[in-house]
Amino acid sequence: MSETTPSVFSKIVAREIPADIVRESDDIIAFRDIQPQAPVHVLVVPKTAQYSQVSELAASDPALLAQMVSVAQDIAEEMCDGQFRLVFNSGEAAGQTVFHVHAHVLGGNLAEGSLAER
Ligand code: AMP
Repeated sequence: MSETTPSVFSKIVAREIPADIVRESDDIIAFRDIQPQAPVHVLVVPKTAQYSQVSELAASDPALLAQMVSVAQDIAEEMCDGQFRLVFNSGEAAGQTVFHVHAHVLGGNLAEGSLAER
């Protein structure tokens, strides 16, 4: 990602566009997805725009990835009894539309076998 084209998530971090923010720390922001796919659908996003996909993040900064998982757990504890699905879309063919790494936290009585439904 080029420095001159900040992602929609970098604009949320910079408060240039609004979002329904549910958690924030020095390194991570979490906000409700604008087009929810489940009763609970929150995006957990590292503030750095350095990584577009989870594999890059895992290789370069595993501690930050672990923080994302911890934040996802905290959100799920608060919103859906601690039970959740964690999705990282990696690549256009996998449905990725924003190339600033993010985790989808999905929860709230999800049906078994619904993994690939959109
Ligand atoms: P992905 O398809 O995995 O790249 O996920 C991108 C997600 O970002 C989609 O689920 C969108 O609905 C969500 N999204 C895009 N723009 C916004 C926004 N301004 N606020 C909250 N969620 C957004």
